[in-house]
Amino acid sequence: MEYISTRGSAPTLDFRAATLAGLASDGGLYLPAHWPQMAIEDIRALAGLDYAETAVRVMRPFVEGVLTEDELRQLSRAAYGSFSHDAVTPLVQLDHRHWLLELFHGPTLAFKDVALQLLGQLFEKFLADGGTDITIVGATSGDTGSAAIEAVAGREHIQIFMLHPEGRVSDVQRRQMTTVLAPNVHNIAIDGSFDDAQAMVKRLFGDEEARGQLTLSAVNSINWARLMAQVVYYFYAAVRLGGPDRPIAFSVPTGNFGDVFAGYVAAQMGLPIARLVVATNVNDILHRALTRGDYSAGTVTATATPSMDIQVSSNFERLLFDLSGRDGAAITGMMGEFDRNRAMTIPADMLAGAAGLFSSARIDGDAMALALRWAQEHGGQIIDPHSAVGLAAARALEIDADIPVVTLATAHPAKFREAVERATGVRPPLPARLGNLFEREERFTKLPGDYDAVKAFVLAEAARG
Ligand SMILES: *Cc1c(COP(=O)(O)O)cnc(C)c1O
Repeated sequence: MEYISTRGSAPTLDFRAATLAGLASDGGLYLPAHWPQMAIEDIRALAGLDYAETAVRVMRPFVEGVLTEDELRQLSRAAYGSFSHDAVTPLVQLDHRHWLLELFHGPTLAFKDVALQLLGQLFEKFLADGGTDITIVGATSGDTGSAAIEAVAGREHIQIFMLHPEGRVSDVQRRQMTTVLAPNVHNIAIDGSFDDAQAMVKRLFGDEEARGQLTLSAVNSINWARLMAQVVYYFYAAVRLGGPDRPIAFSVPTGNFGDVFAGYVAAQMGLPIARLVVATNVNDILHRALTRGDYSAGTVTATATPSMDIQVSSNFERLLFDLSGRDGAAITGMMGEFDRNRAMTIPADMLAGAAGLFSSARIDGDAMALALRWAQEHGGQIIDPHSAVGLAAARALEIDADIPVVTLATAHPAKFREAVERATGVRPPLPARLGNLFEREERFTKLPGDYDAVKAFVLAEAARG
């Protein structure tokens, strides 16, 4: 499989190079040159397979030419062996038509483990045969940082630097990062906001001096391999509910548009998906874009669902690319306009194209809390606030009564226990696998919100190896 950029001018890469690069050199995002097709019989044949084997069947066309099927199987088994539930992503029934797909049984209790556990394996494999060392630099508002650190801690040929805004991630989230004491892990607490941290990371990726000294890699959801790994659970869930002989709807708590884009990929590959519901909180750029064509960034409002508090959804560019008929020049023009004005209007024909599969809903804090209580009272489940945004959207939209609706449960409730307790009166206990998280030693470096200080630290630490 070859990978092309959404902006049309970066070189075409194979799977290995696209995975290690992250962002394309023309500022675009990598996508497969075509969507591989799974025939209805091939999807039916997934029934009864375990998660790791389902992953092999779904992902093999994407890695073709770079990994053999056996190599992919080994990596998949290693990645999903770290989950605490044998089903990896179990389905839980809430009522006669609503289901939860629990994606939080990985080591850091959010769905990001599903992709990052595999990405960690892929990095190790690619770097072991290649003789290169990479430096991962990222910014996190909480969940990505811990999942990425957990995935690469202690691995050879990788240094990871993770910036988090000091005092603005939860205690559980911070400790999940800072108590990992492997020497290749460097946590940095920045005096500033998540956006400040993110801006410094972007600047470092464009910094000639830094690029001259380091091979920089990205682990946020612009990395194609992460999306590829997430396609799998749409197939896994659908075949358990009667797919492909029955269409299924999915509701997805959305921030950067990565998770729901993976559902779009599953549909392009041939999985009958009746509807993909994009559920946003009050930071609703995607809801405005999909309903009115208004893709404009405002200021971020802090909510009880911090992993969805975004202004700009990077992966939306991938959908726009497909909706434009894969016209890289058109996307370069649109994204250029967006960068200049922080706003653009999605053309009517592209909106109509999206409406065939996507619906959206904006869920405020009250509706989120109502959904949390509904899951508790009607489904006997304590869920997390992000999943509750998805559930509220699933219940708000009119979807044919005979279509099962699966809400993606993206985090374990214990990760956001204050908000859960406020809505339900129940304080979810930390799962045993987190063990003595609150007794463990923490290690991190505090730095001012100053680019030069951060750059100097990264270059010096990376040079020490
Ligand atoms: C990252 C995250 C999301 C948003 O996912 P995207 O792929 O960015 O749309 C939703 N819920 C939780 C708990 C997350 O960590």
